Amino acid sequence: MRAVDFLLSIKRGEIDDVKLIEGFRERVIAEDEKYNIFITLAEPDEAFHRKRLLSGVPIAVKDNIVTKNLRTTCASQVLENFVPSYDATVVERIKSEGGVIVGKTNMDEFAMGALGTTSYFGPTRNPLNPSLSPGGSSSGSAAAISSGLVPMALGSDTGGSIRLPAAWTGIYGLKPTYGLVSRYGLVSYSDSLDQIGPMASSIFDLELLFGVIMGWDEKDPTTYDKHVPSEVFIKRAFMNPDPHIMRNLRVALLKEPLVHEDADQKVVDRFMDYVSELEAYGAVVEEVSIPLVNKAPQIYYVIAFSDASSNLARYSGLLYGKRVVDVIDTDWDEYYMRNRKLFGWEVKRRILLGSFILSAGYYEMYYDRALRARAKLYDELNKVLAKYDVIATPGSNIPPLPLDFDASDLSRLNAIDSLLVIANLAGLPAIVIPLEVSTNTPISIQLISQKWSEDILFEIGKYIALYISKLERELEA
Ligand code: GLN
Repeated sequence: MRAVDFLLSIKRGEIDDVKLIEGFRERVIAEDEKYNIFITLAEPDEAFHRKRLLSGVPIAVKDNIVTKNLRTTCASQVLENFVPSYDATVVERIKSEGGVIVGKTNMDEFAMGALGTTSYFGPTRNPLNPSLSPGGSSSGSAAAISSGLVPMALGSDTGGSIRLPAAWTGIYGLKPTYGLVSRYGLVSYSDSLDQIGPMASSIFDLELLFGVIMGWDEKDPTTYDKHVPSEVFIKRAFMNPDPHIMRNLRVALLKEPLVHEDADQKVVDRFMDYVSELEAYGAVVEEVSIPLVNKAPQIYYVIAFSDASSNLARYSGLLYGKRVVDVIDTDWDEYYMRNRKLFGWEVKRRILLGSFILSAGYYEMYYDRALRARAKLYDELNKVLAKYDVIATPGSNIPPLPLDFDASDLSRLNAIDSLLVIANLAGLPAIVIPLEVSTNTPISIQLISQKWSEDILFEIGKYIALYISKLERELEA
């Protein structure tokens, strides 16, 4: 059941909010055994605020977002026993609206990965087909929704980590404009790219959760205070879309992901069928080419690895991170090496490469150039968005990869990264909307718009959900 319908029923006195919690824990445990969704389950809590916006709605939270008195591991052995003493701002806002945090979801270690397979706690399975990856790094949050356990969850997206799992598990996901959702309490991977965002089984729930978590936060100086107020999104979450939204909507269809040498032809063909549908409903669709998009993964990884090498320096076992040997008994090199060994292979690879990139002589050659290329990509995307309302791509141009996929085979991962990381590099909002859900080849669309214009993404998303994909209607039936 959609959270928005559940909340309306409570308001009308048709159901009791406590009902949702009864029997819920058994279901969570059963689904978790099948898909490895949660790293830590919260104790059942009936003391949530009554008569608020999210009263009684079960919500899952990615395990790189800190939760007071609830273990937060980032799926790493380094933080295996870390129990935070405070809530992230987004968690605080959910709790004050009566939402019930049911547990912390599995993910790629420190959000580094695209398949959900770098977790110290083992991979999450895709509820659509358990032999496939659900996509990463917000793998557990996506699986919690896709398996029907929760209507909504929080994820984080540095280079596609909300949108890829959404695309591969047939749910909705939004990476908000950079600065629109507080990062206070999000464990940093790459600060200038990281954003927390909502994931949900319905576009209406996605908007509701977004309305609750968004907005200025005095604890995060990068948040912005001059945008559409949260009340607007909350109110609209209970409303149908503007019926005329498709008429004269200007859509730039990005060419590069469609002709990428690793793109899957069947996925691209099905996606194009839906693009024709958009046109049939009145949208004006034109193909646009931005060749720099093909280089976006390289720009992204240089910046992200550099940031990561600096952000993860704090897990030395002194102030943060598990301590396996004591500094008193060992010399410093030995101490440092033994504690840092706790990181998984992918995290180590990124720290090493990031440190190399930032070292004297190489900084100008790699980091500086990546920053300049990032600025150029920003300009090119914004030039397109000055002429069009949205840029459209598939949510993923390949079908979900098998769980045992060799992640060092980068070409197929680059095909997806290139269409996803562009929104992070330019700080733009991007939504993934499922078009068709099947066991092996779910199809979705990604829409990117100008900064601070999430409202148009939700409007188009609702229209597609109700009239073009018909998934919302199936959900209600
Ligand atoms: N797949 C990308 C990476 O491996 C994205 C990760 C993310 O968004 N956190 O870095």
